[in-house]
Amino acid sequence: MKKLMNYIGGELIAPQSGNYFDNYNPAFGEVYSQIPDSDSADVELAVKAAEKAFPAWSVTPASERSKILVKIADLIDDNLEQLALAESIDNGKPLKLAKIVDIPRASHNFRFYATGILHNHTAAHAMEDTAINYTLRHPIGIAGCISPWNLPLYLFTWKIAPALASGNCVVAKPSEITPMTAFLLSELCIKAGLPAGVLNIIHGTGPKVGSAITSHKDIPVISFTGGTKTGEEISRVAAPMFKKLSLELGGKNPNIIFADCDFADAVKTSVHSAFSNQGEICLCGSRMFVERSIYDSFVRAFVESVKGLKVGDPLEPDTRVGAIVSKQHYEKILSYISLAKEEGGRVLCGGSKIQLDGKLSGGWYIEPTIIEGLSYNCRTNQEEIFGPVVTIMPFDSEEEVLGYANSTRYGLASIIWTQNLKRAHRVASKLHSGIVWINCWLLRDLRTPFGGMKQSGVGREGGFEALDFFTEEKNICVKL
Ligand code: NAD
Repeated sequence: MKKLMNYIGGELIAPQSGNYFDNYNPAFGEVYSQIPDSDSADVELAVKAAEKAFPAWSVTPASERSKILVKIADLIDDNLEQLALAESIDNGKPLKLAKIVDIPRASHNFRFYATGILHNHTAAHAMEDTAINYTLRHPIGIAGCISPWNLPLYLFTWKIAPALASGNCVVAKPSEITPMTAFLLSELCIKAGLPAGVLNIIHGTGPKVGSAITSHKDIPVISFTGGTKTGEEISRVAAPMFKKLSLELGGKNPNIIFADCDFADAVKTSVHSAFSNQGEICLCGSRMFVERSIYDSFVRAFVESVKGLKVGDPLEPDTRVGAIVSKQHYEKILSYISLAKEEGGRVLCGGSKIQLDGKLSGGWYIEPTIIEGLSYNCRTNQEEIFGPVVTIMPFDSEEEVLGYANSTRYGLASIIWTQNLKRAHRVASKLHSGIVWINCWLLRDLRTPFGGMKQSGVGREGGFEALDFFTEEKNICVKL
């Protein structure tokens, strides 16, 4: 069975302990590879390799760094089929989604930051003939990058690319639930000629590898994407060490549908925003609020569309909902469906696990589920489920729906459907979330900063902000 390896100092090596644990294919519920069970000894080796590489990488001209990172992007494109297949097998997501979203975006992340550094600039402020103030930005040193399982290569590269482009060396940890594409990326980095030690990828669990990264005294900057509870733990460790922190955390996003929406578009896109990637996207609209005058007709159309989604083998081209990423997560989602019923919810469609046939019989599948009849403040409507489960309820006024939408501890994303221009902007400005989509979902220019409000995160990723995040800023004033 294939054993993954850590990528340290430019080489693929086994974990120091020699220990491994199982990697599951969620479509079959079977072990298909072995993951290094790394620990602080491996992180220490990676830090040493990164320290050795930093003096040269940090002064490598931007044009040279750019060439190497563009080469990595090219190699991702050249290996799209293999990477998409690996990601689908590792994660359970439809292969088609991995091919059109995850892997192209991973290459785009590298290309965006590789070319971004060629055009980035810093400010200068002239005080007439008295003085000039100018800003210098230097790479910080070793960046720790920790990512989750839902969009494995996409989110991993979104951290690594700006960190490397800014001239830092990186010690990175992909999720132990979906490590395969990060492993394949390490092979591509070797092919691309990335100098040894510039990027180090350590596989293993959060408590062993993740915490060794966040608590390491020589890693002064941490970029983390994952659950709010883990973010809390990382802050507890890293904040007293005065590390620079970026935290991208959970969401419980409202999807608000006004009566004057483009009905067909709102139904179609809401199916995507609810159930893409099995609902395992932090930006999914999992709480739907529909204006009462169209509530019944919208629910009818939405339920009918959702019933048509094919749940099945992630590798089949017509599959729209694949397998849930792990047994533990599958059980968590099912427990929330039970909770919703206990809280008085009525299941309009789905609501159960699915037992598929043949090789898929051991896989973890759940029907796309729509639940109505719940109060806005019950646990089902307040806690992140992160699966193919949405709630739906009517509202009568803007004020009322804003109260529902803003009632959770999260503030990641919101969606509004209306053709009333004034209302769209008015409601968008009052929603407590880092991103608001009006009449669309998941559309984003990479130059736009990204991040959440409230307990959905601290700091912003994306755009040139990410290049700034991975640098330390010095402001110099020179008297003329
Ligand atoms: P998670 O928090 O369990 O794990 C994320 C990563 O942190 C993994 O690599 C894990 O090994 C590591 N980790 C776990 N414990 C750690 C510790 N003590 N110290 C350091 N690292 C540790 O999250 P997950 O289950 O992998 O991902 C799902 C969550 O991620 C959801 O809450 C989702 O909303 C969130 N998410 C947020 C965004 C965003 O941009 N805001 C994007 C994707 C996913």
